[in-house]
Amino acid sequence: MTYRIAMNFAILFLVTGLFLLFLFLLIRMKSIAGTYRVMAEDFAYAIETGRMSEEELAEKCASLCVISSENKEEVYRIGEEPGRLFWGKWMFCRPKGTLQVYIRHKAPLVFSGAECSVEFLFECTGEWNQLFREWRSFAFWYLGITVIAVFVCFVLIQTELLPIRTMAEQVNRLTLQNIHGRRLNEEGTENELKVLAAVINRMLDRMEETYESQKQFVSEASHELQTPITVLQGYSSMLRRWGSEDREVLAESVKAIEEEAKSMQELVEKLLFLSRHERKKLPFAKERFDMAEVVSELEKEFDYLSGHREMSCPVCESVSVYGDRQLIKQALRVFLDNAVKYTNDGDRICVYCRNRSGACEVVVEDSGIGMKKEELEHIFARFYRADTVRGKNIDGHGLGLSIARLIIDGHAGKITIRSQYTKGSSFMITIPRQRSK
Ligand code: ADP
Repeated sequence: MTYRIAMNFAILFLVTGLFLLFLFLLIRMKSIAGTYRVMAEDFAYAIETGRMSEEELAEKCASLCVISSENKEEVYRIGEEPGRLFWGKWMFCRPKGTLQVYIRHKAPLVFSGAECSVEFLFECTGEWNQLFREWRSFAFWYLGITVIAVFVCFVLIQTELLPIRTMAEQVNRLTLQNIHGRRLNEEGTENELKVLAAVINRMLDRMEETYESQKQFVSEASHELQTPITVLQGYSSMLRRWGSEDREVLAESVKAIEEEAKSMQELVEKLLFLSRHERKKLPFAKERFDMAEVVSELEKEFDYLSGHREMSCPVCESVSVYGDRQLIKQALRVFLDNAVKYTNDGDRICVYCRNRSGACEVVVEDSGIGMKKEELEHIFARFYRADTVRGKNIDGHGLGLSIARLIIDGHAGKITIRSQYTKGSSFMITIPRQRSK
């Protein structure tokens, strides 16, 4: 890149130089012609008044010709007739190798009693040679300056590009494994490069964050799978030892294996859901539906599953929602499932469906174990389970609310939580009114 910029710079410099040389040539030739035009005026006057002899005139100009204005005929001539002018008023005379300038004195003068005009040819080889010398020295200096300027430009570009090269080398050495704590030096760089270094550093931060969260996800998923696998191994070795003789051991082992297999299946399904859709590519099959229908279906379903809890739906207003019916139902099922899991027999579970000026509001409220303030901040994090529930024998992997939030976010919805430890919790899900497409 440095070579290319330096080459372009050199070409630009040379083209400008050529243009300047040409301009210089034009100006000087114009000034030479101007000098001879003044001389021509003097000579024309001298011819008219007879102040100069023929020899003097022949000495001063290469040729002159007096032409009658009336019949355009030559009245008087000194020197040879002019040859072909090669460029405007300039004539190169071969074989002498001299340059002459042609000046036509247009103002009429009286010669031998008649009105005439005069044409002059002046020898200007001396001026031309002088001009050529000036031209040559200008070209020489200009070329010298160009070479120096290109060299300086080359060195400056190299120096300016050095931090970029250093940055490129540093970035090149980074891999996902060694990215931790390795960032570009923002302080040592200047202006635009500082911005570039900052942008790259932010990008590296995001990459590290994503990598760390993926690592965490994998390790937590493996950890979650570890428990059922250990349980399965335990029961299978128990079966191998006593299962064939002891019918009680056989029944208990089969039941436990079935439960663990079910739990593993649920976990794997949730993991798959999250890993497939975490990059916000949930494929929504959106349609218009009445949320009241979904809520009453869920109420019936959970009334059966909630055992001795008091399940009710005090408000079930009809509200039209545009979204993925199945996924929204899956999300609401998470809140109801939690309400059942984190309450005890005799506790109350209420589900409301309200129409708030076209927006849909579903509230799942329970009078269960509730949550502490500090727990509330983490409940949407993957694999998070409050310490208060970990000790208890309650099923769960800490993934339900992450999935629910993914779905509600995908419908531009909002989840608001209120909870009091030992008193109960309330989850309010708001889905804004959306136009069908
Ligand atoms: P899981 O229920 O499978 O553990 P979730 O992601 O659904 O996972 O919930 C995360 C955590 O939030 C739960 O482990 C629990 O500590 C807390 N939580 C969720 N819902 C309730 C609720 N209704 N009452 C009390 N705690 C809850």
